[in-house]
Amino acid sequence: MAALGHHIGGKRISATSDRTGSVFNPATGRVSQDVAFASSKDVELAVSTAKSAFADWANTPPLRRARVMFRYLELLEKHKSEIAALITAEHGKVLSDAAGEVVRGIEVVEFATGIPHLMAGHFTENVGSSVDSWAVRQPLGVCLGITPFNFPAMVPMWMFPVALACGNTFILKPSEKVPSASMMLADLLYEAGLPAGCFNVVNGDRSSVEQLLAHPDISAVSFVGSTPVAKAIQLAGIQQNKRVQALGGAKNHAIIMPDADMDTAISGLMGAAYGSAGERCMAISVAVAVGGIADRLVERLADEAHRLKVRPGTDPEAEMGPLVTSQHLQRVSSYIDIGLEEGADLVVDGRGVQGESLGDGFFIGPSLFDNVKPDMRIYREEIFGPVLSVVRAENADEAFRLVNEHEFGNGTAIFTNSGETGRRFVNEIQAGMVGVNVPIPVPVAYHSFGGWKSSLFGDHHMYGPEGVRFFTKLKTVTSRWPRDEQARADYTMPVQG
Ligand code: NAD
Repeated sequence: MAALGHHIGGKRISATSDRTGSVFNPATGRVSQDVAFASSKDVELAVSTAKSAFADWANTPPLRRARVMFRYLELLEKHKSEIAALITAEHGKVLSDAAGEVVRGIEVVEFATGIPHLMAGHFTENVGSSVDSWAVRQPLGVCLGITPFNFPAMVPMWMFPVALACGNTFILKPSEKVPSASMMLADLLYEAGLPAGCFNVVNGDRSSVEQLLAHPDISAVSFVGSTPVAKAIQLAGIQQNKRVQALGGAKNHAIIMPDADMDTAISGLMGAAYGSAGERCMAISVAVAVGGIADRLVERLADEAHRLKVRPGTDPEAEMGPLVTSQHLQRVSSYIDIGLEEGADLVVDGRGVQGESLGDGFFIGPSLFDNVKPDMRIYREEIFGPVLSVVRAENADEAFRLVNEHEFGNGTAIFTNSGETGRRFVNEIQAGMVGVNVPIPVPVAYHSFGGWKSSLFGDHHMYGPEGVRFFTKLKTVTSRWPRDEQARADYTMPVQG
């Protein structure tokens, strides 16, 4: 079977190199296809294609670019179940969760249809006598998106609808573990009428990324993935004067106050910790139990965890699917060993859920640790699996301090019935996305997504108004139309008044 190639110049093309990787179906543990790893020739073709398409697309009226997005929206609606099926087949998440991911991506396309208004500049008449000034936002050129395995459709769609609507051309380098959804997203863009070359998918691994990053014709890089890679991408990008936004890993805390509604907190924590097998950058991986509620909280979480249905993502009853690869399964399992060695109490052990029905799939059940301490590795490091750590805190001050002193600052949430505590949390907490009685506070498409501290490198959050700012540069014009008698040399700084 030929390896999945690339999508360049408006069509799928085969790879020019023999370097490939295996794509697995995580529910069966078997290879479903191979994917090409781009050679320097493939990279060069993608960049030169995107570069040649840029001038015409940038000068296409924003309204016409928006119309492509409107047609894209219709096609995405029509094909969303097929995209979700591709996600489940390569990532493993349950089908309803994959469908939800597609819808959250579609919302960004909806936002991008408003681009004529979003890109409108501003104008001031008479900044001086008969002098006018205005500011416009212009596209950057060829933009590069590098995306992680855990949201094969949504994270690319955080980037390219806004980038394209702003008049840029785009190259997407999806995760080599889940390449198929991106190829379908590209097919549909061209069916929607996008001019050839404006959107390209280059499949590949680290070396393909390095070649793309080093290319002088790439103007901006939008990255989502783990923190060490995000840091490296930001450094490499800014050294070449490319604009970079690089979103990294997370360790999201939820604080449960003694006055919280326990049912809301338990159901919120279960979904946020174990949904998508914990492979979400907004997953809750630390529950901070405040005051005397910890024993009750742990007991109820353990009950629910024992009942969670771990099945292949295509099973309509599944609540949690497998992890993405066997290596990731080993990594998550090894963190459970580490937690035990560090002295945390393993209340629910998710290892060994396999059983006959789960065969060779990369399955692990939900795990729950109690009495986790801030100096433990299972507390400090991102596990990115279905492992929830409960930390006990005396009071709100101690709980807030835990969140604020942690290396990561992506999302966080509080469960409370006190408006005063909720407001204080929102005001004092050091994280980019904050929930009050909302466990996964992912901003809607017309707000913007991004963390703080080691969860984001760069200045801009993603999509929404921040996305428009990231994918455009500001130009400010000052203009006058002098009559002959006004034309004279002026050796002083022009001032008014
Ligand atoms: P990853 O960092 O391993 O890979 C991300 C992308 O970078 C992939 O396309 C991969 O091919 C490429 N890549 C990997 N290593 C590279 C290297 N050394 N140099 C250049 N490119 C490289 O991440 P992943 O395992 O695919 O995804 C999981 C991570 O992504 C988690 O840490 C998760 O928290 C994070 N994530 C963050 C957000 C967010 O919004 N902050 C969203 C989703 C996922």
